[in-house]
Amino acid sequence: MPNYDAHVLSGIVSYPIAVAVAGYLSTIGAPFKLTTIALVIGYALYVLGADLPDMDHPDALIHRGTKPIVSVLTGGAAYINVIDRIHLNPEWLTITAAWGIAIAAALVAWYAFTWLMPKHRGIVHSLLFAFIYGALAFLLVDYGLGMSTGEGLYVGFAAFSGYTLHLLLDREISLI
Ligand SMILES: [Zn+2]
Repeated sequence: MPNYDAHVLSGIVSYPIAVAVAGYLSTIGAPFKLTTIALVIGYALYVLGADLPDMDHPDALIHRGTKPIVSVLTGGAAYINVIDRIHLNPEWLTITAAWGIAIAAALVAWYAFTWLMPKHRGIVHSLLFAFIYGALAFLLVDYGLGMSTGEGLYVGFAAFSGYTLHLLLDREISLI
């Protein structure tokens, strides 16, 4: 099984192949727009995708690195949701109590992230998830960043390709 370095480095060095494929496809009608900013964002999501599937392994660096982010985001979101529903005096007591609840949510997210993760090399190691990752990348660029649809489609393609590269190296190409 290729390790973290092998997966990430394979993404870092093989990007020109994905660019060449997208460039060729665009000459035969694919609606990709290879602008500089799309190519740079595509590179980041391509390399991230090259390691992302190992999120389903509790010992993998990407799993351990993502877990605190998910936990903190959940805690932050919980704080935003409860702060207006608690009314204590003085106000700092309200804020402290709201953080107490937020931390409970963050803790649940911390453990649930590992518990609920599908088994290693299960559905997370599939072309379906590569497609979902590509679709999210497209939405991020097209709607989140307000870039053009052609740029979004290119970045989505790059993200999908990076994720698929990981599956290729693992020799785990399955539809779902
Ligand atoms: Zn893997």
